Amino acid sequence: MRILSILLFITLSLSCDGSKKKFESKNSGFSGKIFGTYYNITINEPNINTEKLKAEVDLLLNSINKTFSTYIKDSELSKLNQAKANINVKLSNDMEKVLILSKKMFFETNGAFDPTVGPVVNRWGFGPDKDKNQPTKEEIKKLMINVGVKHFTLDKGYLSKKNSNLYIDLSAIAKGFAVDKVTDFLRKDKGFRNVLVEIGGEVRAHGNKGNRVWAIGIETPSGQLAAGIQKVVPLLNRSVATSGSYRNYLKYGDKVFSHTINPQTGMPVDHKLVSVTVIHPKCTEADAYATALMVMGPKKGLEYAQKKGLLAYFLVKTDNGFDEISSKAFVSYMKAFER
Ligand code: ADP
Ligand code: MG
Repeated sequence: MRILSILLFITLSLSCDGSKKKFESKNSGFSGKIFGTYYNITINEPNINTEKLKAEVDLLLNSINKTFSTYIKDSELSKLNQAKANINVKLSNDMEKVLILSKKMFFETNGAFDPTVGPVVNRWGFGPDKDKNQPTKEEIKKLMINVGVKHFTLDKGYLSKKNSNLYIDLSAIAKGFAVDKVTDFLRKDKGFRNVLVEIGGEVRAHGNKGNRVWAIGIETPSGQLAAGIQKVVPLLNRSVATSGSYRNYLKYGDKVFSHTINPQTGMPVDHKLVSVTVIHPKCTEADAYATALMVMGPKKGLEYAQKKGLLAYFLVKTDNGFDEISSKAFVSYMKAFER
């Protein structure tokens, strides 16, 4: 999992009369580090032993990291990536789930979300091995030969690589998956009803915080740590994920390159869409869709969101600021909270 230091969301509470105020509460909460970023959990339930709960959550998150990290050399994913072609590799339940969904999302997004774009991600300097120079067109073209979900098959809990150079990168979906796993743990194993789970800007919220709806703030893109809030989004039994092109980038010469790669060209996306936020019941899906819409860009992304009825909110750079563009489903969702 790649290092992420961004926090696109600031947790807010939205009172019933709609006024927003900075997050402060009597609720139990704790934070920690995982996947090269931070997590925050808030629970609105009485008598929580946060110390014990944090230890359990840390254990769960570390085990997810041991499954999906490309930074840990002996993680399950690293071992898969080192495997030879045409050998059946047994998958853990979590890995199987995420790979099945990743393949589904690849087809669903016409290849915009592609879990096999890893070699190109790495060569651009966004993977565990930091390359220092800008890749040439020829290098990218060569690496692109190994990109595509046709290079692996999944069958009854086993993966078989059809090409030994296949390299899977689940960074665009694993954070969302981890949010869903932690949420399930808190709700199903612990029996809590009112929880908010956030990892590196991907969030899921259930129930409420007292007489208020959970809400998050979508950051104004600026690259500054103390960025403002562009929009407050109430979250009732929903997840939200944002893909942003303004925080995680690299510079080669004077030019800035995004960490989101267009799997059709092998090039970092280069358009005016600076952030896209997706609301979905599951955070795994929200995370993958946000990356896919970032690949599609402002025009095609919006068309796609409208066609699929996705709840999506785009911030598009203009000469003197940003245009806010919402899909129809996003507008309807927001309206429901106005009453
Ligand atoms: P963020 O929330 O920080 O914007 P994302 O969830 O969009 O992060 O994931 C970005 C990461 O996903 C990249 O660093 C890279 O490892 C991987 N990635 C880049 N492009 C794609 C793509 N088109 N499909 C799937 N994964 C991608
Ligand atoms: Mg994503």
